[in-house]
Amino acid sequence: MSFSVPFDNSYAALPDAFYARLDPTPVKAPKLITFNETLAQKLGLPEASDDVLAAMFSGQKVPEGATPIAQLYAGHQFGTFNPQLGDGRALLLGEVVGTDGIRRDIQLKGSGPTPYSRMGDGRAWLGPVLREYVISEAMHALGIPTTRALAATTTGEDVIRETVLPGAVLTRVAQSHLRVGTFQVFAHRGQKAELARLTDYAMARHYPDAKGPMDLLRAVCAAQAELVAVWMSVGFIHGVMNTDNCAISGETIDYGPCAFIDDYHADTVFSSIDQMGRYAYSNQPRIIVWNMAQFATALLQQLDDPTTALDEATEIVHAMPAQIEAAWLSRFGAKIGLAAPTKDDAALIQDLLTLMQAQGADFTNTFDALARGDARDQFLEREAFDAWAAEWQTRLQGEGDPQTVMQAASPRIIPRNHRMEEMIAAAVAGDFAPFERLLTALASPFDTDDLDLMRPPTKAQRVPATFCGT
Ligand code: AMP
Ligand code: MG
Repeated sequence: MSFSVPFDNSYAALPDAFYARLDPTPVKAPKLITFNETLAQKLGLPEASDDVLAAMFSGQKVPEGATPIAQLYAGHQFGTFNPQLGDGRALLLGEVVGTDGIRRDIQLKGSGPTPYSRMGDGRAWLGPVLREYVISEAMHALGIPTTRALAATTTGEDVIRETVLPGAVLTRVAQSHLRVGTFQVFAHRGQKAELARLTDYAMARHYPDAKGPMDLLRAVCAAQAELVAVWMSVGFIHGVMNTDNCAISGETIDYGPCAFIDDYHADTVFSSIDQMGRYAYSNQPRIIVWNMAQFATALLQQLDDPTTALDEATEIVHAMPAQIEAAWLSRFGAKIGLAAPTKDDAALIQDLLTLMQAQGADFTNTFDALARGDARDQFLEREAFDAWAAEWQTRLQGEGDPQTVMQAASPRIIPRNHRMEEMIAAAVAGDFAPFERLLTALASPFDTDDLDLMRPPTKAQRVPATFCGT
């Protein structure tokens, strides 16, 4: 059984301090659920039978040229520093340089215990695997920087959580798995040489124009500011923006209890463990600044005298709220048809959001209806909308083609939480048709008329809480 991937493993060539080298734990009876052919071609992977793919992407066999490693990192979890985390149920198989010239990691998630597993079993169950598969691919189709899904397999083994559940492995592709927490682990341990080495590695891999730690900080802050603004613009709540779940590449990473807003409310929280609403929808812009402050603090530790760059680091982090606001304005301006919104337009946008919140209007459907000229029906009190719409129409005078601008900024379908839960329940019962259907529909989110998937949940269908599901 040969499967030769053109691996080119740069992270595994770093010193041992960065990772633990080990193979995945073989599974009993791997079976391929799905394989992302388009992505595989982009990565330059060879063709293979389903059985070979199942063996390779479940960890039953290790592809030729792979150097599986568990990456070391630390992180602030809900604001509390945990000095050692690391891949506890994931293994980086290796890196490939795709047909587009971009280097990407191929990682197995759910591949068995590692030295960083702590109390965990190193495994994943089918629910979170399919959830991440569907949502990360949906994010990609929305044009949002994200890790991708290459394959999902079942393992033929049980995973014990609150109940006995089918085991599964996700194969994830990312521009890298470097996190804020990867820097924090070396900063916390006072390993300056490793921290400097990691900084050089991250710059070379992601921001080749950067010349030093402060350039890297500036670049990551800019990428994260854009990322959070685009999340906001589609109603996405990451749910667990710990610093270990915050990627240096600027990609969305670690889909756990994430979800999209149905009826708009700024304080929406889905994650069952987010009791204080730290990662609520409207807190995301503040949290990303907090995370970047932690990144700055870590980066400074490699300098002989960290205070020399303190002013510069502070200035870079303090510039973020304005960057996020500008990115937010540009995204939400487009959602109401403004190609070049100015600061004066923020109030008009905010008024609409306030109105949506007061009326329990559906986020996605309201903006979609706005783009199609029938938003009035989305509001219980239509006159309230009329008053806002009158002001809006005045502002739109002289705009070139607001309809096109709006339609490009507002998707028609998103992975609604009740659909995700329904899909997982079906898959556990052996029916993967809802999974396939969601994948297909969410691949063209701006251009669909799948009325069924556009519909918000009824009261009975609502799924108000999500779980980490590890
Ligand atoms: P997460 O909140 O999913 O990003 O995970 C936080 C940390 O817990 C990471 O270091 C994971 O590798 C680890 N972890 C989560 N689930 C498991 C598991 N089932 N077995 C071992 N480690 C896990
Ligand atoms: Mg994580």
